[in-house]
Amino acid sequence: MSAFGLDRCPHCNIALPNLLEVGKYQVPSSDRTVYLLRCKTCSMPVSVVADPWGHVVTTWPKTVAYSKDIPERARNRLIDARETLANPSPCIMCCNAAVDWMLKEKGLVEGSLYSRIDKAAEEHLITDDMKAWAHEIRLSSNIERHADVNEADPTREEAQRCLNFAEALAELLFVLPERVARGRVAKQPAEAKPKVAPPSAAEVVAAAVQSLKGVR
Ligand SMILES: [Zn+2]
Repeated sequence: MSAFGLDRCPHCNIALPNLLEVGKYQVPSSDRTVYLLRCKTCSMPVSVVADPWGHVVTTWPKTVAYSKDIPERARNRLIDARETLANPSPCIMCCNAAVDWMLKEKGLVEGSLYSRIDKAAEEHLITDDMKAWAHEIRLSSNIERHADVNEADPTREEAQRCLNFAEALAELLFVLPERVARGRVAKQPAEAKPKVAPPSAAEVVAAAVQSLKGVR
C-alpha cells in the first residue's frame, strides 16, 4: 500500500507509487492537514488533504478516469498508455493502438493505419492539423516497433504528447458527440413545453373577422 492508499501517481500513473513526504501544514481553524508528497518515479508533486485519522479528503491533481463513452478496446489502450507513461516506448505503442481502435470504431477498418488516418480527415472526422499529429504518433510508434538503431529512445515528453493526442481524439470522436446528444435529449421536453396550442375554431373565426374588418 502506498502513502495514503493512492493507487497510482496522477502524473506518471505508476501503480502503487512510492510517494515521499516533503512537507505538510495544518489548515488553520480546521482539522485538515495538507501533505506535499513527491513521486519517486517521476519526481512530480502530489498534494493530499487528510483528516485527523489520515483518511484522504481530496488529492491534487486528480487521477484520470476515462469516459465510458469511449469504446472499450480504445479505452483499454488509453488506460494502458496512461499506466505506462513512465516508460515512453510502450506508452507510445499503446497510444498508437488506441488511435487505431478509435478509427476502426468509426467504421474506418480498411487498409493500414496510414490510410485510416487520411480517410478520417477526408471524411472530416478530424481536422488536417489532427491528421498531421496522428501521423506523427504513427511514425513514433513505428520507430518503437521496428527498433531503429538511428533513433534515440523516446522521452517522457514525447509519450505525453502522444497520450495528449489520443485523449483529444477520444474526446472529439466519442465523448463530445455523446455529451451533445445527451444534452439535446435532456432539452427536448423543455422545448416541447412552450409550444403554443393550436388555435381553437372560435379563435380562427375571430381572427378571420378581424382581418376582414381591415379590408373593409
Ligand atoms: Zn509519478
